[in-house]
Amino acid sequence: MSTREDGRAGPRSKELFAAAQKVIPGGVNSPVRAFASVGGEPPFIRKATGCHLVTEDGAAVIDYVGSWGPALLGHAHPTVVEAVIKAARDGLSFGAATAAEVEFAERICEFVPSMREGMVRLVSSGTEATMSALRLARGFTGRDKIIKCEGGYHGHADMLLVAAGSGAATLNIPGSAGVPVQAVRDTLLVPYNDAEAVSQLFGAHPGQIAAIIVEPVAGNMGCIPPRPGYLEALREITTREGAVLIFDEVMTGFRVAPGGAQERFGVTPDLTCLGKIVGGGMPVGAYGGRREIMSKIAPLGPVYQGGTLSGNPLSVAAGLATLDLIKRDKPHDALEATTKLLCEGLATRAKAHGVDFTHVAVGPMFGFFFQAEPVWNYEQAKRSDLDRFARFHSEMLARGVYFAPSQFEAAFLSTAHDDAAIEHTLAAADAVFAALPKT
Ligand SMILES: *Cc1c(COP(=O)(O)O)cnc(C)c1O
Repeated sequence: MSTREDGRAGPRSKELFAAAQKVIPGGVNSPVRAFASVGGEPPFIRKATGCHLVTEDGAAVIDYVGSWGPALLGHAHPTVVEAVIKAARDGLSFGAATAAEVEFAERICEFVPSMREGMVRLVSSGTEATMSALRLARGFTGRDKIIKCEGGYHGHADMLLVAAGSGAATLNIPGSAGVPVQAVRDTLLVPYNDAEAVSQLFGAHPGQIAAIIVEPVAGNMGCIPPRPGYLEALREITTREGAVLIFDEVMTGFRVAPGGAQERFGVTPDLTCLGKIVGGGMPVGAYGGRREIMSKIAPLGPVYQGGTLSGNPLSVAAGLATLDLIKRDKPHDALEATTKLLCEGLATRAKAHGVDFTHVAVGPMFGFFFQAEPVWNYEQAKRSDLDRFARFHSEMLARGVYFAPSQFEAAFLSTAHDDAAIEHTLAAADAVFAALPKT
């Protein structure tokens, strides 16, 4: 491993970023990678193993991004890499049915409670999973309207890119240029953790709401857990109203428990969307659930959805190897204990240095805000001191610790984060908190 500690962009990363900006919009293939919200330039990554990323400037940094979630078992886990290499030798893609994808689907259904008696369809990203699940919910119910939460992220399909914070269910403004107003006309917004608001929408639009899609632990407005009773209330309301309850577990699936948030909190949705960990680092998404609903998908039913590379052998090999390792090694209890240790360590050090700080950990998924009050929704998350976060982010990176370059992202632990990594992180945080301006 390299000896350089400073993970911030050095000469080589800066040179690459300049070249990238000429041929790739903003120099990146997904916006948050550009470091726009924390300032500075992004380090380019040469390789990754275990809990470390190695930058193009030769620094080895402790990684709490984990490719935005997939790397539950650490980077380049030898068993997963071996499975992919073996599959590659037999051909990269056939666009036809394979034995491995059957085994993979069986394994997914075994893990995820809402799929246990049901079915699953493989796609290539989380975005595809959520847009397909919503089309299916609309096809199944014959209704058009959908509900999502302010600050909830479900990929970049038109109907889901609605400006958060409007609150007015009838005045939806697209959250991106290029999204026609008609595309979000049927998307209704509610604050996260507010079941009463959901109830009211069903009252205002009787018989018109097809589905509610929700992150059972929010992970795209920082990490925000469901209030006790919230998920249960969503289950009860949707059942009563004949609407489809969709858990977007692209981030939480296989992470907050082997069976995802639905297993952890004991609430079973009708449909579940998966991504990230399910592909073990390769591009995979999946959606599935009740057999009666899944039977509406073509070729069984009238709801169309397909994909040239869906279920391709390399993605399936990586995903299956990952799920098999989770099944064999049962890493979640240890991951949760280590995450708790890390988060409490951060909180203690922040307090000692008089820095307002609140944190949440749900299994090996965690987050923190630079404010004193606990956070239950997007409005509250936005009160975090973003300048302080930017300072923290940059100073931690200078000390070899890589957090997501945005206050509104969750952080992830992997099985490769050992005691040394945790100790290094806490020591770095202690120094950084000490130097932050006082609250
Ligand atoms: C990452 C994410 C998505 C989108 O997945 P992509 O693979 O990036 O398309 C959807 N929903 C949630 C909750 C996510 O975290």
